[in-house]
Amino acid sequence: MIENLFLKNEVKINGRHFDPEICRILHIAKETCPGTTDNAVWVTSANDGKHSRLSKHYSNEAFDLRIRNLTEGADAAARWATAMKQKLGEDYDVVYGDSAHLDHIHVEYDPKG
Ligand SMILES: [Zn+2]
Repeated sequence: MIENLFLKNEVKINGRHFDPEICRILHIAKETCPGTTDNAVWVTSANDGKHSRLSKHYSNEAFDLRIRNLTEGADAAARWATAMKQKLGEDYDVVYGDSAHLDHIHVEYDPKG
């Protein structure tokens, strides 16, 4: 369990991010994070930055999470992504490891029902 959650300077948060189903992403991120050098989980993007046109970032339903501060490197990032996916369930997507997601983990709310 990581205690601190920080937003990178340029991260833009809107009201929608505080809705329980979106906020839940950050609770689970803190709960499952395998350990960071600065004892913090960092959000590196919310509704900001450059994403694909229909990205959930622009509907305030996605976060990017920093992985370069993980104490155990890329293995830990993969484990963290898996742990988040397990806890969040099928209505959320966790993306890590493809060419666009090597330096962060993308998590979004995407209800399938
Ligand atoms: Zn993203």
